[in-house]
Amino acid sequence: MPGRAVYYLRLSVTGRCNLRCIYCRSGDDAAPPAGAELPAEDLLKIVRAAALMGFRKVRLTGGEPLLRADIVDLVHFVARVPGIDDLALTTNGVRLARLAPALARAGLRRVNVSLDTLRPERFRRITGGDRWHEVWEGIEAALALGLNPVKLNTVVLRGLNDDEVRDLARLTLDRPLHLRFIEVMGFKGNSRAAARRVGTAEVRALLEAEFGPLEPGKPVAGCGPARYWKLPGARGTVGFISPYSAPFCDWCNRLRVTAAGTLRPCLHDPWELDLTLPLARGATERDLAGLFERALARKAAHRGAAAATGGGRPMAELGG
Ligand code: SAM
Repeated sequence: MPGRAVYYLRLSVTGRCNLRCIYCRSGDDAAPPAGAELPAEDLLKIVRAAALMGFRKVRLTGGEPLLRADIVDLVHFVARVPGIDDLALTTNGVRLARLAPALARAGLRRVNVSLDTLRPERFRRITGGDRWHEVWEGIEAALALGLNPVKLNTVVLRGLNDDEVRDLARLTLDRPLHLRFIEVMGFKGNSRAAARRVGTAEVRALLEAEFGPLEPGKPVAGCGPARYWKLPGARGTVGFISPYSAPFCDWCNRLRVTAAGTLRPCLHDPWELDLTLPLARGATERDLAGLFERALARKAAHRGAAAATGGGRPMAELGG
């Protein structure tokens, strides 16, 4: 889109994950090869190159970013890259309670946690892990430390958690939580989960039948694709990320770096540029910035995803 400002870098810092969410991974065959992880120095060089290109916001994601042994150091150094004024992290929350204090000391101000259910046994069914209580402790730790905003991501799946949207939304009544309901995206290998998609209109109708009309919510820091609303009288907000019912391609402001070290203008466009070879050959930040320019040109020419397929890579590697 001419004039579109692209200033948000999503950095998948590892392809490894300690959960196997049914909408994200199709099984071990979809797992990225072991070692699909760039060293911290390379990630930092990429962030500095992005900053040269005017990027201001970085999100660390994965895979599960908190599995990296050096995640606290990474946060420390990325938070201090001149020009980057907003650093965020998306996590499944399993290791968050343990790491949140060190992450906050290192400079992390806000966090997104995935939470699809309030029921531990369902959590196991959806994610393959018996870790619900750890995730909940992680969310509580983030709130207790004053990380702000604390956003929760809920992928709504018919027959699995669509009966919980009201209970999940209720969390925002007395806590400063920002819950976003996500329309599940189709990727290579997740067609069964994608067939469970529940559209935003349906989720919203369920909420309004229970709580009354949603009130417009103030935009929450992050400039992402969610639109925010409030349950009447709530401290937090509810939002909707609606790649199908309200596509946001035309104002997408992000580039991605995959765990394998490729630069991607779009989740669903298979076009990507390898950064690993230039990095191995000692590319400077200026050299990398040149590659960013090429990716930005591709993004400018790209108009929406014809088919949401992830372009041949699983979500865990793309960095959701
Ligand atoms: N492991 C971290 C986590 O669980 O938040 C970060 C990576 S995960 C890929 C990032 C986000 O992508 C999560 O909130 C997850 O719910 C979302 N996600 C994964 N697969 C998705 C899909 N098929 N459709 C929509 N969202 C998806």
